[in-house]
Amino acid sequence: MIKKTVSFSKKSINVFFHILTRCNLRCTHCYINPHEHGTQTLPIDVIENWLCAFMEKSRSANVIFLGGEPTMHPDLPRAVKRARAIGYKSITIDTNGFLFHDFLKKVSPSDIDFLSFSLDGATEETNDQIRGKGVYQTCIKGIKEAVSLGFHTSLIYTVSRTNIHELPLMPPLIEAMGIKRFFIQVIGMRGNSGKENAGDVQVSKKEWLEKIPEVALDTASRGIITTYPKVFLSPEETFECAGIVADNYFIFPNGRVYKCPLCEDFPIHGFSFVNNVLVKTPRINETDLFELTISEGCVMNKLIQPENLVYKKDGTSEHRIACCMLKEEIDPTAKNSR
Ligand code: SF4
Ligand code: SF4
Repeated sequence: MIKKTVSFSKKSINVFFHILTRCNLRCTHCYINPHEHGTQTLPIDVIENWLCAFMEKSRSANVIFLGGEPTMHPDLPRAVKRARAIGYKSITIDTNGFLFHDFLKKVSPSDIDFLSFSLDGATEETNDQIRGKGVYQTCIKGIKEAVSLGFHTSLIYTVSRTNIHELPLMPPLIEAMGIKRFFIQVIGMRGNSGKENAGDVQVSKKEWLEKIPEVALDTASRGIITTYPKVFLSPEETFECAGIVADNYFIFPNGRVYKCPLCEDFPIHGFSFVNNVLVKTPRINETDLFELTISEGCVMNKLIQPENLVYKKDGTSEHRIACCMLKEEIDPTAKNSR
């Protein structure tokens, strides 16, 4: 079993494609911001054109279809098949589990590398407090159906003060359901709900370090690849901004394309789709921020989540915050490959 920090690389591209912002749920931590991201459902021909924008590099590109709830888009199966035909290295769909439009009947396991479900509690009570009444049961049903049909599934758990106490209950649940990968996320203060709940729900450094690595290890010991954000850098670790050293694109229905997810609440996107062509936006934009070097680590964290920072008496910061895209991964299968 190998634990490693997944280093950034420009060799592979990640395309996070929000094909609509509409959703049937109203999760308390939702980062979708229709005011900044648009309210339209992208027509299938536009989705196909935008997927083609990465055609040259498609063999090294991973596409993740997102929403809102992407299965609310009636043409998602067609978009998935088009991405496969273009040659994307991997195709993932992030879903809340409702699987609209009989989605599982319109795609096959060979069309999709991972179907990624979101649960924010090990129990109905906690999950539904965050994601809405009845969501737990629907999501579990969706996972079971997907697994029984042979789809590879993963699970995303967004950790907050509301649900951190149930995180240790997740490894046996995930194992019992036959899920292959587990992604632990940290709650961010983005989108409209973030503004309402700011300060109440973010976990402290102590809480994070006490609980998350241990649960990740437990999950991995059950044969499940587990990933969680690095968040805090140790003094000897080098800070790197994914906006500079990685190749990520966060696409929204209004044509905005960001390189950094923390910038998404602001009109500072580095790229846009104009007439189906991906173009750079004029300065000043997010890319100007990536270049700034500060002792606290991530510039955007300091700008929008300064409460994450603690300063010593001499004014220097107690810890540096890693890029939000930097992950620790524990791969239980890596043992055999050595
Ligand atoms: S399922 Fe996703 S898009 Fe929908 S409300 Fe919840 S977090 Fe937002
Ligand atoms: S989260 Fe911070 S470090 Fe990461 S891409 Fe954005 S600005 Fe750069």
